Amino acid sequence: MKEKRYEIMKNLVISLSIFFFLVAIDLSVTKSQSFDMYESLEYEYINIKDMTTMNTSIKNQNNGFSLWIGETNAQEENSFVVNKLTPVDFVSVRKPEEKQEVRRIWYLPTEQGVISQYPRYGHVAYDIISPRGSAEVIFPVANGVVSSMYRDYAGALIVTVYHHINGVPYTSQYVHLSRYAEGLYVGKEVTIHDALGYMGNTGRSYGTHLHFALLNCSLYDPNDYNCSDLNGFFRFANYRLQEGFYGLGNVMSMPHEWYSR
Ligand SMILES: [Zn+2]
Repeated sequence: MKEKRYEIMKNLVISLSIFFFLVAIDLSVTKSQSFDMYESLEYEYINIKDMTTMNTSIKNQNNGFSLWIGETNAQEENSFVVNKLTPVDFVSVRKPEEKQEVRRIWYLPTEQGVISQYPRYGHVAYDIISPRGSAEVIFPVANGVVSSMYRDYAGALIVTVYHHINGVPYTSQYVHLSRYAEGLYVGKEVTIHDALGYMGNTGRSYGTHLHFALLNCSLYDPNDYNCSDLNGFFRFANYRLQEGFYGLGNVMSMPHEWYSR
């Protein structure tokens, strides 16, 4: 009897030791991570399904390869100014090698959604519809800073968010909004939990939906970290897509539909 009690105590002590050991490891790992200004907005994984597992290659000095996610605005679809393209420092269109692959997690831009259009030539973006229509709240796909709020030529209400992740600049673009979230302004830091606005049908749109794109404008112009020349990037992206450039559909695998983020 005494021996059995001793055995139980022994097991308990061992289990507790292992538990605290693991907790200590976890704390030290968490503490040792350093973040820059943007990454100091730490990701929260609680109750959030990851949207996409992006296999992206980081810009590499040797072959200059970089994957991108791009899109086009409606007004760009029939007006590619190919000869205006400036050469950039990547040449390859091949799949990244294993060692270059980096796993990134992006989050779904809406709580509920069904993809109604996939990226293709002339439309390098996802169109997302929702049974909740214009009641559907739009969230950033990663933490970042609101970089622009504007209407395009057709009146589409647009917001873009700048992300800086592991040294790579990204801009996500959300188009056709019905309205912005209250208190949204350019320069505001936003997390994946902060509403940007509501799904809508503004601009050249045939039904309430979100036109969503994620892009890295520095591929077009290495100095354009903030995507100030979005249209230039879209022309470029389409031109490269026509050439068989390894693009959005391959980089980002969004589910066809989802019911919660
Ligand atoms: Zn679209």
